[in-house]
Amino acid sequence: MISGRKEEIVIVGGGLAGTSAACILAEAGRSVLLIERDAEPRHKVCGEFLSIEAQTYLTRLGIDLEGLGASRISRLRLIRKRKLTEVALPFAARGLSRRTLDEALLDQARIRGARIIRGQAVRSISADPSQVHAEIAAGDPISADAVFLATGKHDVRGMKRASAGTMDDLIGFKVHYRLAMRQQQALEGLVEVILFSGGYAGLQMVEHGIANLCLVVSRTCFDQVGKSWDALLDHIASECPHLAERLQGAQSLFERPLAIFQIPYGFLHEPDSSEQQGLFRLGDQVGVIPSFTGDGMSIALHSGCLAASMYLAHGRTSSIFHHRIRSDIQRSIRLASILNRAVRHAAGQQAVFHFCRTWPAAMQHVTTLTRVHEASVHRALVAS
Ligand SMILES: Cc1cc2nc3c(=O)[nH]c(=O)nc-3n(C[C@H](O)[C@H](O)[C@H](O)COP(=O)(O)OP(=O)(O)OC[C@H]3O[C@@H](n4cnc5c(N)ncnc54)[C@H](O)[C@@H]3O)c2cc1C
Repeated sequence: MISGRKEEIVIVGGGLAGTSAACILAEAGRSVLLIERDAEPRHKVCGEFLSIEAQTYLTRLGIDLEGLGASRISRLRLIRKRKLTEVALPFAARGLSRRTLDEALLDQARIRGARIIRGQAVRSISADPSQVHAEIAAGDPISADAVFLATGKHDVRGMKRASAGTMDDLIGFKVHYRLAMRQQQALEGLVEVILFSGGYAGLQMVEHGIANLCLVVSRTCFDQVGKSWDALLDHIASECPHLAERLQGAQSLFERPLAIFQIPYGFLHEPDSSEQQGLFRLGDQVGVIPSFTGDGMSIALHSGCLAASMYLAHGRTSSIFHHRIRSDIQRSIRLASILNRAVRHAAGQQAVFHFCRTWPAAMQHVTTLTRVHEASVHRALVAS
């Protein structure tokens, strides 16, 4: 029996999933404590591409994308070696840095009455039939009626995700650049996806004239090029002169690239009859969609809003939520995983490129199938 402080709801992690749940629960008058490991705003490895579903949730949560300076993106350009093809997106997307977006969401949670502790990490979580217990790095343990686990890529002791069957040999990198004016103008309104041997990269504008280059590469490729960022960029640029041109005269805004290892792409939480109630898994802790076609931010927001509204309707029976979210996101995660596997190989990249060039309409359809379904978004929004 763990004693210590008692709370109604504890949310662990102040990214998109955790803050969206905090907003809905606090708005409904519930007592919410959110614990975020980072003491200060921080950049995160992310393509920073906001789909229409993500935007719908953000508007509901009071985020003014226009006011925050988010870029507008209407076309996708796919690039492989010296060839490129372009297609109109089936929606108007936006680009905004995670540093700005996550802080804006934390502010919204605070405004609605959530209490926020920053700079402390939850070390472990355990559950018994009536309560969930969180042990924090500093201070007394906390017991709560419900804990919303929203730690993104980072597992917490006691609640580790099952990694079997996931593609976890990939590394994600991100750098913000100030591009030369001519290149910035050329990139306006576009997300450029570059296929290269060993991985793929996304380049787009975010706020205040900043460009985000985010890429995913296999560990084997990274090792082969000599385990250095500069060597990796040279490798991509030698295969794809388009990127070399974009980065000519660009100023890197980071001292070194941000990196993330062992992303468990394809993970999907499988609820079982023995799982304790009161522990709600959100965002990357419930499902990780590969970022090639992915829509991880809208899954995070969808899971946060859905879990909060289901807690308000059904109390701490988290298994109802886990079954619902699984059925909402499994199709997109499966399809995105198939595409992610395909683009890891030259033949698959060629096939995807050829497909996009020959059937742009089918390509638009695929981007729709890899996103959270409109009806699921509608249901979660009505409930919240
Ligand atoms: C390379 C790459 C590119 C991507 N590109 C896109 C894209 O363009 N568009 C898109 O929609 N999605 C994209 N995604 C996916 C998206 O970034 C994630 O799905 C999304 O951030 C998940 O949100 P989250 O709230 O679950 O986790 P996070 O945003 O990671 O937030 C988790 C929070 O928990 C905190 N935390 C961690 N551990 C603890 C702890 N022990 N105690 C307290 N706090 C803790 C962290 O500090 C963090 O703030 C990409 C992912 C990758 C890897």
